Amino acid sequence: MYKTAETRQCLICHSDLNDDTSLYSCFYRPKICQRCLQKFKVIETEVILHNCSVLVLYEYNEFFRKLLYQYKALDDHALKDVFLSCFPEFRRKYRDYLIAVIPSSRQDNIRRGFCPNEELAKTFSNHIFTGIYKINNYKQTRQKDRSLVKNVLRIDDGGRLSGKKVLIFDDVMTSSNTLQAAVSLVADYHPQHIEILVLSCPHIQLFLDKSVSHYHIYDNIEDNN
Ligand SMILES: [Zn+2]
Repeated sequence: MYKTAETRQCLICHSDLNDDTSLYSCFYRPKICQRCLQKFKVIETEVILHNCSVLVLYEYNEFFRKLLYQYKALDDHALKDVFLSCFPEFRRKYRDYLIAVIPSSRQDNIRRGFCPNEELAKTFSNHIFTGIYKINNYKQTRQKDRSLVKNVLRIDDGGRLSGKKVLIFDDVMTSSNTLQAAVSLVADYHPQHIEILVLSCPHIQLFLDKSVSHYHIYDNIEDNN
């Protein structure tokens, strides 16, 4: 059947988006339908990690987990446009920030043909810093000495961060080891300010519970970038 250029489908369930005549839809022209939009359980919760504010956007539910898997493991690049659908204001909110993206392993990026966090960050900013990189496919679950975590991340062109407001962006915060290492690397270049934004966090209660020490509990949780 002939389709006009105006035919738009939900990137998740493929329903016809032209049926949606809500004000939201007319204004933002979202890439997903209202039904799918509502499956994202927005929590917008702040936790603190080494004096840095970490904004966690969504509950880590089955919907989110499967969607992220489809994007990152099944290489469904088009889904980059859906993860921040609930936050159309981010383009304005973070317009003065340099977005430093947490890298995936090079092998994974070569296989899928794109860098997942970088593609997500580009949906709300044109100021992306891709200088943080991983040196190997090291698994942090087996890493007992936390001080060595920093050794798996490196930074190129860090001078670009000096004096800037930096938003470190990752899809999921699991152990937080990677994010802590990134904060430490970025801080060496004296940015004006560092914040962290993550889409979701499966163990958010642990981070919210101030009585639990970060320093041993997270060593048993795997980071999976
Ligand atoms: Zn849908």
